[in-house]
Amino acid sequence: METITKQEEIIFRSKLQDIYIPKHLPLHSYCFENISKFKTKPCLINGATEEILTYEEVELTSRKVASGLSKLGIEKGETIMLLLPNSPEFVFAFLGASYIGALSTMANPFFTPAEVIKQAKASNAKLIITQANFVEKVRDYALEKGIKVMCIDSPPENCLHFSDLTSADENEMPTVKINPDDVVALPYSSGTTGLPKGVMLTHKGLVTSVAQQVDGENPNLYIHSEDVMICVLPLFHIYSLNSVLLCGLRVGAAILIMQKFDIVPFLELIQKYKVTIGPFVPPIVLAIAKSPVVGKYDLSSVRTVMSGAAPLGKELEDAVRIKFPNAKLGQGYGMTEAGPVLAMCLAFAKEPFEIKSGACGTVVRNAEMKIVDTETGASLGRNQPGEICIRGDQIMKGYLNDRESTERTIDKEGWLHTGDIGFIDGDDELFIVDRLKELIKYKGFQVAPAELEALLLNHPFISDAAVVSMQDEQAGEVPVAFVVRSNGSTITEDEIKQFISKQVVFYKRINRVFFIDAIPKSPSGKILRKDLRARLATGPN
Ligand code: AMP
Repeated sequence: METITKQEEIIFRSKLQDIYIPKHLPLHSYCFENISKFKTKPCLINGATEEILTYEEVELTSRKVASGLSKLGIEKGETIMLLLPNSPEFVFAFLGASYIGALSTMANPFFTPAEVIKQAKASNAKLIITQANFVEKVRDYALEKGIKVMCIDSPPENCLHFSDLTSADENEMPTVKINPDDVVALPYSSGTTGLPKGVMLTHKGLVTSVAQQVDGENPNLYIHSEDVMICVLPLFHIYSLNSVLLCGLRVGAAILIMQKFDIVPFLELIQKYKVTIGPFVPPIVLAIAKSPVVGKYDLSSVRTVMSGAAPLGKELEDAVRIKFPNAKLGQGYGMTEAGPVLAMCLAFAKEPFEIKSGACGTVVRNAEMKIVDTETGASLGRNQPGEICIRGDQIMKGYLNDRESTERTIDKEGWLHTGDIGFIDGDDELFIVDRLKELIKYKGFQVAPAELEALLLNHPFISDAAVVSMQDEQAGEVPVAFVVRSNGSTITEDEIKQFISKQVVFYKRINRVFFIDAIPKSPSGKILRKDLRARLATGPN
């Protein structure tokens, strides 16, 4: 559907009716609003231990954790860091923090110490919840700052144990007034440019985003309390936190937690627990499409296969379709700053629509989308590619302590500019065709070129550097560097790769280095990444 406003803006909306969204509710109250209907049903299934926790147990434990956090001195508006793989404790800590008006910043436990500490510092985390094998990454920092470190398994010396939280009395949880605009989650994202920044997602924002997906008579993502959702994507990424955990909790589905993707255990779990909903990313789709063992398992229970976080090609979509005989397959399109879901495939709706391969959905309900000309800012009509912009209560409040980046991303009229290029066709379907922003996506994980460029420039034998993406069959994209050696330097590709790999998590490692005389830049000093990408296409040397 589209409407033309007075300013001649062409605004696209969902084909589904807008719905009532209880935006006044804190996120935990919203998620558990209907819990009386499924109290004794499975809520979290731990794939590794086979332990099953009911809704009643998860809600109670989360309140105990809230009480425990408060006893530890965590107050409303303060941040805890979850440096955890997928686990029930992740869920309890996230919800526990929400109950007391605190917020969670989620970090990849495989980050290097420098990466974790940067985020802990920037977010001003007061407590770090992790696993014993990751404690070394934060020990010195925590000691220096007097921050507590807590482990969900056997804690090393001077660390707390998660049972310190779960043993608290839920009745001693403080009563805290939570405002809809209070922040509850603080994932980090580089957005359209620069270094990773704290994305402030509020109670109202996440309630709206979840409601846009699963609420109402004809929900966009039709899931219900008989569903089993596999939670294999990391909860520290907002896609999994929102579209798997929070959506699952809201409808009373069983959430099957898996720590890490490994094709055989993954297929075994799908078969054993009769998984019905599979939220994936393209590399998982690729693994399923290509793996010869898939045929040995019964995947007939799966009725929805959703792919998001990175582009999914039509061939791959077709290749995986035959592996799930009873599933509807389609894409969702998200961006951390957008809350994150902007568009979702209408084949997942209760009353499904026919969809086209390659589309990444139609804009979610209770939101507005427009496509703008990247040069003039004019709003474009159907089938005309331009920058995708979204407006609605689900988008971020802004970047933490970074007004300039916030204003660059959300304009005065409230439109969030995604940095993605796409068009909307005659059937309201959105197709992403390019990326204007610097961001590189390795298997759906973010790699910020600015971060790698800053590290490269620290090297005494490098005088200038630029990082861009290169297509890769397995990962989708990988970062590659163009480097200008400093005078007299003979530094090699391998030396540069090693220099970087010591400092970053595996997916940010530089895949290739190309030496160059000068980095192409605009008169204002901006790296001309398009020129570098074009060079890659024609052969960089
Ligand atoms: P993140 O904030 O990590 O979720 O990354 C957001 C970015 O991932 C988007 O701005 C897009 O560039 C990309 N992305 C997410 N979903 C899709 C999709 N379905 N198709 C193409 N790109 C996508």
